[in-house]
This record gives sequence, structure tokens and C-alpha cells, in this order.
Amino acid sequence: MPAAPADLVHNTPEEITEAHRALRESFASGITYDVGFRKHQLKQLSFLLNDNVDAISDAIAKDLGRCKFESVFAEIMLTTNSVLDAHNQCEKWAKDEKIWSGAIWALHHPTVRKDPKGTVLVIGAWNYPISVQIGPMIGALAAGCTVILKPSEVAAHSARLLAELWPKYMDPRMSRVINGAIPETTQLLDLQWEHIMYTGNGTVGRIVAEKAAKYLCPTTLELGGKSPVVVDDDADFNIAAHRILWAKVVNVGQTCIAPDYVLVTKNSQDKLLDAMKKVVKEYFPNGNRESPDFGRVVNDRQFKRLAGILDRTKANVAIGGHFEAPERYMDLTVLQNVQPGDAAMEGEIFGPILPIMSVPNVQGAVDYINANDRPLATYVFGSKNTTNEIIKKTRSGGLVEGDLLLQYVVEDLPFGGSSKSGYGNYHGKAGFDTFTHSRGCVHAPSRGMMGQIAEKALSTRYPPYKDSNLNFMRLLMGKSPNFSRPEKSYSKSSSSSGFGIGKLSALIFLLAAIAFTRPDSLNHFIAQLPKIKS
Ligand code: NAD
Repeated sequence: MPAAPADLVHNTPEEITEAHRALRESFASGITYDVGFRKHQLKQLSFLLNDNVDAISDAIAKDLGRCKFESVFAEIMLTTNSVLDAHNQCEKWAKDEKIWSGAIWALHHPTVRKDPKGTVLVIGAWNYPISVQIGPMIGALAAGCTVILKPSEVAAHSARLLAELWPKYMDPRMSRVINGAIPETTQLLDLQWEHIMYTGNGTVGRIVAEKAAKYLCPTTLELGGKSPVVVDDDADFNIAAHRILWAKVVNVGQTCIAPDYVLVTKNSQDKLLDAMKKVVKEYFPNGNRESPDFGRVVNDRQFKRLAGILDRTKANVAIGGHFEAPERYMDLTVLQNVQPGDAAMEGEIFGPILPIMSVPNVQGAVDYINANDRPLATYVFGSKNTTNEIIKKTRSGGLVEGDLLLQYVVEDLPFGGSSKSGYGNYHGKAGFDTFTHSRGCVHAPSRGMMGQIAEKALSTRYPPYKDSNLNFMRLLMGKSPNFSRPEKSYSKSSSSSGFGIGKLSALIFLLAAIAFTRPDSLNHFIAQLPKIKS
């Protein structure tokens, strides 16, 4: 049972303004451009997590009534892994990228610089107070942004602990924690940021996007949705039942990528249910209620919403169904023969209820998924063909074949929603990229002999404009199609390729220029030759 809500620490409006000012100032000072400084902060963050495993698990248990096993595995361990990966890779991620854009630009050294965006805001949700609060910050720290984290007030014990621990480990010139509820979040959103990453529900997501629009600030919205599990007739029902119910049990279903509902054919519904009944007995031999592994619903508001679903559903309860309001306890409940308009199919469940709906076949599952909002996750059990059909014909934030939740666990995959389940992503390099501005830079020679050569080559662009100059520019830079005129309708014929006369001239010109002025560059250019395609 979760403890009584902690008194939330509210930062004052003055503290919020000052934190924002200080972080913008330190960003402008350039301190976070130093990758060594960023790596030091990531090291400190790993110590923060590792030194405080018990304190963090206790705070989460008070907030969510969740067992230590889940908090250590799904929060502290996974987040620490992300921190360590970012620490080990951010130097590589932050390296300038030299771009080969054809011989014509060889002397101009086109480069993509990985600039930190600036001072950014991360707004977290309560259901995983470490993973979805510190998790999104990791990319920002690796990228060299200065960051304010606003934890969710709903997980107040965890929010308070983060505010206490933060200054003990982290440099306040790079990151700070600001606590509060809607007024404090609103004040933060009224300030100017260079990126806002928000995790939570879509209603607040829209508020965040609207506020951000005032400053044309880019946003990443990590939202939720109804994530389906498609189980076809070829599935191994025993394995499917184990994995689906495990993913529903973790944090009592209060997981953004939890299986929300199952689509299965009429023929196979009973087979799946029989397997699920056995699994529930195996996981909870003395019932869910007595198990130390089964958590509680976070607060009365969420509990009432979930109890309301069970009160209103017209479906049959196949497993569980019992709930006790004082403890905010609810059985792991499986509903069968659920109809599309049922209370359980209205919105994201975000709790321990699993509706099972039957469909005539895989196409029926595709049609149902496509008739509803795009989910954050889609899961498929069955043949390869089924997976291929689902991948090809539906869209979702992520997809797992034969298991659940792993799209979050596999750190190097970009994690995020699609359409109503959010936009943008993070995890691994995707997190770094989210908080990085890829600055396209050209370093044109403008002095000395190289400057003279480049000037000669490109001076034909200057007025007075002449046809002859235009022809020369075309010869030098213009691209010609490397394919013949296609048939009117599309066919999968192989396309021809050719090396246009324009490119050939540009190549000869450039080779001569390079050989004349910088023999060393010629070696680099020759090394790049295989990349020059048609
Ligand atoms: P929440 O109540 O903790 O709210 C999230 C944040 O929004 C909090 O920090 C809160 O202070 C702020 N907030 C709330 N109301 C606000 C307002 N009116 N104006 C400005 N800020 C406000 O979390 P929640 O929304 O209950 O979270 C549950 C939802 O989050 C579910 O839909 C779940 O699927 C989704 N979620 C998504 C992910 C993901 O990674 N995609 C992860 C976790 C949760």
C-alpha cells in the first residue's frame, strides 16, 4: 500500500526565475561545450543512482506501493545503463561529421557540428519516477545542454528525494531540479527554452506544445495510448500468456507501453484464456492481494477511474475482478468477449485491467488498430507473416514481435510515440540527437592562394549575369538525371545510372585545383572516390 502523500516541496517563483537565469547564463559561458565536463556530470549521475538504491526504492514504494525488484530492475538499473552508455559514447556522438558532397565542394570542407541546443526543460510523469524523469535528461546532459527537471508532483516522495540528492552530486551550472505542481509547471512553461521534453498525458501535452509555440521552441511529447497485442492462431499461447501478463503486472499496468488490450481470433480466445488462468496461479499462488510483488494504484483519482471501468463494462470477467477502494487494490483482471464500444475500450487503461476482444482474422486486427488512435506500442504473437502484415499495414511508436516492453529495454533503439501517442524520441543516440542542433557549416577558402582558386571557380555567379556564366555553372554544379524517362505507371525495373558530363568536368576541374594547391587533400579525395556514386 502506498504511504500517505508526501508534503510536496514547492519552489518559489523567485527560485524558478533564478534557476532559469543561472542555467542560461552558464550555457552562454560555454562550460558545457566541454565534453569532459558533460562526462563528469554523467559519472556523477551514475553515482547518484548507485549510492541511493535503497532511498530511491523506498521513495517509489511510498509513492506507488511498488516492490523493490521492479524499481531496481525497471528504474535504477535501466537508467544507470543509459547513463553509462551516454558517458561512454557521447564523445563519439559529439564529433564533427565531415560531409562528402561531391568534388565541387572538396575545398569547402562541409561539416555538421553537433551543437547543444541550449537551456532545456524536462517535465516528468509519476509512473516511473526515475526512468521517465532522469531518463530523458541523459541525452540533454550528453549533448551539453543545461537542464531543469520538473518531476511529477503525483510521485511526491520521489520528487522530494530527487531535489535533495541533486545538489549533492550534480553541478548546478548544468542541471537543477525544480519541484511544484501546476502553477510551478505553468511558470516554467512561460519561460523561454531551447527544447521541452514532456512525458505524460495528451491533454497536458497540448498545453505544453501551445506554450512552447510562443517561442517556436521544439518539443518532444512522450504520451500514452491504447497499445494492442495481436495474438494469432499460430502463437504459442503459453509463452504469450506469460509475457502478456508479466507486462501487465509490472507497476500494476501503470506503464505507458503496457499491453492495453488483446486482439485474438474467436477460435483462439479460449486457448489464450486457459493459458492465462494457469499463469496467474503460477505468478500469484496466494492471490494478487497477498503478493509482495503486486503493487497498488497510485491515487484515489486513478483508482476511481479504473473501478469505473469495471463497474461499467458489459464484458465477462474471466480472471480477477475484485477491488478494494481503501487500499487502492485491484485484482489483475482479464475481460473476455469485449465489444468495441465497451467502457474498457474508451481510453488508455493504465491499470491492471486487460480486455480481450475477438477479431475474425489478422486483417480484422489491422482494421481495428487503424480505426483508432495510433498506439505507443504494438505487440504481435504468431507467425512471421502476421508480424509482417502488422508492420506493413499499421503504425505505432514501437513494435515487438513475440514479447513485450523490450523496445524500451533495448537501449539503443529510439523510443517514442507516433501521432496521438507523441512525437520525437530518446534513448541512446536518439536522446543525444533530440537535444543537439546539427549545424551545417561550410568553410570556404577566402584568403591566400586557396581563396583565389575558389574565387576563380565561383566568380561566374556574380553580376552582370551572362548566359555563358550560367552554362559554366551548370557544367560545374548542375546535376543531370541518371535514369531514362520512365514508363507512365510504376514498375520495379532497375534504374540506369550514368556519370553526367557536368560531373566529369567538375571532377577534372577540382582534381586539377587540388593537385595544384594541396597535394595532401588529393589523397583524402582519392580515398572518398568509392563514395561518388553515379
Ligand atoms: P502527471 O500527472 O504526472 O503529469 C505529468 C506532468 O505534467 C507533471 O510533471 C505535472 O506537473 C504536469 N502537469 C499536469 N497538469 C498540468 C497542467 N495543467 N499544466 C502544465 N503542466 C501540468 O502524469 P500523467 O499525465 O498522469 O501520466 C500518465 C500518462 O503519461 C499516461 O498516458 C502514460 O501513458 C503517459 N506516459 C508516457 C510515457 C512515455 O514515455 N511515452 C511514460 C510515462 C507515462
